[in-house]
Amino acid sequence: MLSNLATRDVETLIHPYTNLAAFREAGPLVLERGHGVWVYDTDGRPYLEGMAGLWCTALGYSNDELVEAAREQMARLPFSHIFSGRSHDPAIELAETIKELVPVPASKVFFTSSGSEANDTQVKLAWYYNNALGRPKKKKIIGRVKGYHGVTVASASMTGLAANHADWDLPLPGFLHAACPHHYRGAHPGESEEEYSRRLADELDAMIEREGPDTVAAFIAEPVMGAGGAIVPPKGYFAAIQPVLARHDVRLIADEVICGFGRLGSWFGSETLGIQANSLSFAKALTSAYMPLGGVTVDEPLYQAMLDQSRKIGTFGHGTTYSAHPVASAVALKTIEIYKRDRIIEGAAAKAPHFLRRLEALADHPIVGEARGLGLIGGLEIVADKASKRQYEPKAGVAARCVAFAQEEGLIVRFLAGDRVAVCPPLVIREDEIDTLFDRLGTALDRTQAWIREQGLQ
Ligand code: PMP
Repeated sequence: MLSNLATRDVETLIHPYTNLAAFREAGPLVLERGHGVWVYDTDGRPYLEGMAGLWCTALGYSNDELVEAAREQMARLPFSHIFSGRSHDPAIELAETIKELVPVPASKVFFTSSGSEANDTQVKLAWYYNNALGRPKKKKIIGRVKGYHGVTVASASMTGLAANHADWDLPLPGFLHAACPHHYRGAHPGESEEEYSRRLADELDAMIEREGPDTVAAFIAEPVMGAGGAIVPPKGYFAAIQPVLARHDVRLIADEVICGFGRLGSWFGSETLGIQANSLSFAKALTSAYMPLGGVTVDEPLYQAMLDQSRKIGTFGHGTTYSAHPVASAVALKTIEIYKRDRIIEGAAAKAPHFLRRLEALADHPIVGEARGLGLIGGLEIVADKASKRQYEPKAGVAARCVAFAQEEGLIVRFLAGDRVAVCPPLVIREDEIDTLFDRLGTALDRTQAWIREQGLQ
């Protein structure tokens, strides 16, 4: 029997990323409050939030300083836009702060309210840039199979997942997808990570040559893939592909929406993985998700082209009501202040070896094929046969079942396509809480194994 709130939910809400038919039977998990890395449902039951919400609540759930920063800004100036030359001090200060932090040549910062809008903005800026430079053919955008960049029409087109394309008439023309850099699945037998990376770079080169370098504007990549399966790239991947992109004058956009602000144990995933992008997209942990805010960096050549273009055509015609929302900006400033003052990112780096040890130990579990991570993010893959890496039928929903068992054990993790389970806790998680997380995940895997046997799945 669904509770009253649950019944009302089922009758009124469309849930994003949900199997709507299955949901009518199962109903929602209705959360009421949070504290530290724990969230509580309406019956008061605690769950360890092993996904930091959606890879975003880096400072956990009860940070009073963020609440106070929002309250102060709400009381002082709850809203002002920054269209047509208007501005406000949180936006200015935040743009300055981000310019200092990012590992890319940033001349300016443009703010959005989400990661999808940030990546949509990247596409539009890449197009705008090449129009300004008088090369209107150079417009194609390359994403990667299993890359995730959001759900707006352009960001979903860059995304490389079937659920975001099938039935949506996407991707739009001019959006291509290079191979997913997943050594466990993609490498030839005996191929080292470095050899695999070089092959992927050669394939990318061939793709750009085939399309015509004068038609390709940009390549977008997450440092570690999130929604595509929490996939860590093979060694040498970015070092191998960057010269290819540079040779063809293709802009590299790092989608730091998950990895930005500490996830890999450095401020940006680009630093951990040696990525030298032309521009970054960011969102999520920028405010520890206490307010919706995202954005992109704009380098000097792009800015100069934008200036030239606006001298010719006038207004820079892009931006939303909530671009650089003052309350979100104030919360972001406080979040970054706390990251610096409390050495949160250094703390994440210090805890990462323990987190990764516990994660990688799950590779010994009879139903786990791969368990791999970086910093405080990781993914594991459930397989039917470890030697051949054969998987269960997708419709068996094995990873979904594992995640449901985890929830019964008081742990929130996320299942992703390809029978993968992602783990991405708040950066403030303690070592004993990391142990609780993996103890519970181990139990969920044991229960999944027993369930597989009971169901007679092959
Ligand atoms: N890029 C990446 C790497 C993401 O993980 C996400 C969200 N999971 C997005 C973009 C889209 O962000 P949003 O959901 O805020 O639109």
